Amino acid sequence: MTERGLLIVLSGPSGVGKGTVRKAIFDSEDNDFQYSISMTTRKKRIGEVEGVDYYFRSHEEFEELIAAGQMLEYAEYVGNYYGTPLSYVQQTLDEGKDVFLEIEVQGALQVKEKVPDGVFIFLTPPDLTELRSRITGRGTDSIEVIDERMRVAREEIEMMALYDYAVVNDEVPLAVQRIKDIISSEHFRVERV
Ligand code: 5GP
Repeated sequence: MTERGLLIVLSGPSGVGKGTVRKAIFDSEDNDFQYSISMTTRKKRIGEVEGVDYYFRSHEEFEELIAAGQMLEYAEYVGNYYGTPLSYVQQTLDEGKDVFLEIEVQGALQVKEKVPDGVFIFLTPPDLTELRSRITGRGTDSIEVIDERMRVAREEIEMMALYDYAVVNDEVPLAVQRIKDIISSEHFRVERV
């Protein structure tokens, strides 16, 4: 029997650079993961290609797929649906290949419920851990602004606790290497071999 592939989920707060890191992983020569192309209802941007960047679908089509149970996860983000078609993920894992998802946090939490043995990687901005001392220490922000920043940071940190790994995105090539290292070690976990 073929050993099942790993489901790798890269997620993190918006603006942290998930897409850039994912592209760098897939551009690298030694990449051995299969990218799960997401589906979205948002408009195609210039240069984007159907079936390469996303599967672009109407609201109605997307909702039909949700109702038919054909999405592994989905989320509404800035007024549009984004989601992971289930069949590609299932089939590719069954073939023993590792599948890589790059998705926002709500979707990642749904995947964690359904596939608890996935590898959940949280990409963080480089300054997250230093944020508190920097925000309070510099003395320039109003109390309201400090509160809001800390609220967002706390939410992000709480989310991080649900993940298996946190990777700092200080420099893209470093973040890529850390992610590759994590995944190669995951293959040697005792419960997987
Ligand atoms: P963009 O519109 O910039 O391509 O993507 C917006 C956000 O949607 C990014 O944070 C990206 O990670 C997330 N995203 C892309 N595909 C999916 C998906 O299939 N599911 C979920 N939950 N989020 C996704």
